[in-house]
Amino acid sequence: MMMVICMATPDEKWATASFEEKYSMMMGSMSEADQKRSAQNVIHLCRCNKCQTNTETGEINAVYCTLGKSEGISEQRGCLCSECSITKTMSMRWKYYCTQGSAVGLSNLNR
Ligand code: SF4
Repeated sequence: MMMVICMATPDEKWATASFEEKYSMMMGSMSEADQKRSAQNVIHLCRCNKCQTNTETGEINAVYCTLGKSEGISEQRGCLCSECSITKTMSMRWKYYCTQGSAVGLSNLNR
């Protein structure tokens, strides 16, 4: 009798991992300062500075999914997060991080 053992490669594991699993793999051991630096490195991928919810406030900050809520945005006028490659890469499943807070805060990581 032949036994088949299925072992997922690291790429396969990443493809099916939840946000919580990916965050733990990538950022879990980083300091808050390193996480902020990491967010600055992907700012060019972020859609927030092109978003109607953001641009109408005049506040052109971004990466709210990592850096947390905006201090200037209170009205939700549409969200581009679902089109963002950071959202897809990290399997983030929320939106309106600018008004709701960071993905970590919305996740199961702090519960
Ligand atoms: S978090 Fe969503 S709604 Fe807020 S600025 Fe970014 S894309 Fe727009």
